[in-house]
Amino acid sequence: MGDKFVRAIFPGSFDPITNGHLDVVHRGMRLFDELIIAVGRSPVKNQLFTPEERVEMICELTADMPGVSVESFEGLTVEYAARKEADVILRGLRSLTDVQYEFQLAMTNRAVAGIETVFVMTSEHYGFTSSTLIRQVAALGGDVSKLIPKSIYARLQHRLGRLTE
Ligand code: ADP
Repeated sequence: MGDKFVRAIFPGSFDPITNGHLDVVHRGMRLFDELIIAVGRSPVKNQLFTPEERVEMICELTADMPGVSVESFEGLTVEYAARKEADVILRGLRSLTDVQYEFQLAMTNRAVAGIETVFVMTSEHYGFTSSTLIRQVAALGGDVSKLIPKSIYARLQHRLGRLTE
């Protein structure tokens, strides 16, 4: 994006990180000089992995990605963005349903903090992938191995009490 150094944050729950999220990360890497994957610590809905575990898993997956780092944060995303002196918030879009919610979120964040949100559309392969559905399907024994990285799949099986060797 021109000469200016651009730092973006990619906030989310990432419980767990999916191939869809990683697709967004790869696209973000091409757009920004620095990308911080920010794991929200908000008391979430049916948490499967702790924020620390999520950060650790994402760190492993992104270790060799230049310009990418991982952190967790508490409280308002826009306040975290300001603390990190981030220029933009990166979010992914899967469907029209996402657009409606994300539009509202982005407008609110711009109104309260003046920060811009940049959206990237996911690869058509992952448009239907969501962490919530992955948790639900995996808990009922469904095979989600194509939707998440191998290392995450192993952790998920472990967490759900299905030990794999
Ligand atoms: P949140 O609970 O804040 O929505 P998520 O971890 O579910 O956090 O998602 C973080 C971001 O990643 C959101 O912008 C969401 O739309 C996007 N995202 C989630 N899954 C996908 C996917 N399969 N493809 C593209 N973007 C995705």
